[in-house]
Amino acid sequence: MNAVLKESNRFRTLFDRLQTRVHALALTSAEERADKIRRLLKATLEARPAILAAAHKELRVNETDVDAQLLMIKSEAEFITRNLAVWMAPQPVQGSLMTLGKKCYIRYEPKGVVLHLSTWNAPIAEAFVMAYGAIAAGCTFVLKPSELAPHSAQVLADICAKVLPEDELAVVNGGADVATELLQLPFNHIFYIGGHQVGRIVMRAAAEHFATVTLEMGGKNPVIVDASADLDEAGRKIAWGRVANAGQVCLAPDYALVHASIVDAFVAALARHMTAMYNADGRGFQRSPDLPRIVNRRHFDRIKALLDDALDKGAKLEFGGDTDADDLYIAPTILTSVTEDMRIMQEEIFGPILCVLPFNEREEAIATIRRRPKPLGAYIFAKDRAAIDWFMARTTSGSLVVNHNLIQSGTNPHLPFGGVNASGIGRVGGRATFLECSNARSVVEDQYPAGDPNIMFPPYSDKYKKMI
Ligand code: NAD
Repeated sequence: MNAVLKESNRFRTLFDRLQTRVHALALTSAEERADKIRRLLKATLEARPAILAAAHKELRVNETDVDAQLLMIKSEAEFITRNLAVWMAPQPVQGSLMTLGKKCYIRYEPKGVVLHLSTWNAPIAEAFVMAYGAIAAGCTFVLKPSELAPHSAQVLADICAKVLPEDELAVVNGGADVATELLQLPFNHIFYIGGHQVGRIVMRAAAEHFATVTLEMGGKNPVIVDASADLDEAGRKIAWGRVANAGQVCLAPDYALVHASIVDAFVAALARHMTAMYNADGRGFQRSPDLPRIVNRRHFDRIKALLDDALDKGAKLEFGGDTDADDLYIAPTILTSVTEDMRIMQEEIFGPILCVLPFNEREEAIATIRRRPKPLGAYIFAKDRAAIDWFMARTTSGSLVVNHNLIQSGTNPHLPFGGVNASGIGRVGGRATFLECSNARSVVEDQYPAGDPNIMFPPYSDKYKKMI
């Protein structure tokens, strides 16, 4: 690291305190760590009104969206605190010929100081899933919430300051400049949630200190709708998956590959369900209390530009398409006749627009998916078991859901969450976050008297040859 930068870094003193504190935290029991997690959860649930107000200002989400986040961290906290003693216990491993008479086991030790550069679309859940895992592992933790959700960031800072001292859990608020400064410090592990351009910056900065990383990114998640699918069910679930949080969900289906024989019926089902969910009273989608807004003008302009580019190049607007910049509103939208040269097929949309592409042969669908980086999530809708297996075996992604979407995250702590290559590195949720923050130290203990005093030491002659 550049010495001048090191000295002038605003966060150096804080970092040093967190680093010193780790040594004491390494000696804490499962119960002490669990108590901290429980107290954090309690303070978070008590702050529900402030969390709601913040989320409403930022995304105009309703209570249910916020409560879904609270429910998620509640079950995460309960799962961790229930299992932590077992996870922390030294894990014996099988012996071997070469370690005969010795004790071999794995000890989970805190990696040290952990940084989390978080994002804005579910800011409470995204902050605490990582924080709980770090606390469970005995690490100290710096949270840098996203500047795009400043009200939630302030609530997060208030909750954390109320529960734990700054040298254990610090919240540093600010934008890319603050993130850049933090990244110069020798953190032991870095969590990052966001787009892959910044993910690359984070990984480069981590390399400087050989910090390990967990990158939770996104991409274009495909949904395959086989000819055997229940179209009404598929339409209902995908309409929800695409429009929830106004499409600002990393796991949202981004484009649908639909068997050509059912495209029209699928589009009709989608449109019917989008209407039933967000415009049942006919007063217009914009007035739906369940349809959030795009987070800011920059993201609104980005999504609008993707839509305009597609329409200019010949995409067909099947449904929706309305936008209102002053209100940061984009209607649930369905496009067909999309082609590879359109930007909407090259970038993650992260908005409530679904592209529907027909396929005749299954291989065409697979080729479309393989032309892109490996996705975070993939979805298959089919009743035919052989079709499900065929598509599953020929695709890859961080997670896969059959006959549904979005439900692989935050619903079952036994299922770790994450991407693959450009959509993410590492896993979080349940034990996975604990493991990301732990050094799995391999330990061999020899016994007295030593189990095998001779074989390692000279004179060797042909001792090993006899064993081959
Ligand atoms: P963002 O703009 O909030 O950025 C994320 C974090 O990176 C913030 O803390 C921000 O301050 C920091 N940052 C921004 N520029 C930086 C820089 N130059 N150097 C260092 N840090 C910097 O997030 P975003 O990119 O708008 O988020 C949307 C993306 O996040 C989408 O691609 C989405 O798929 C992905 N996402 C992934 C998950 C997941 O769990 N996999 C969850 C939510 C969102």
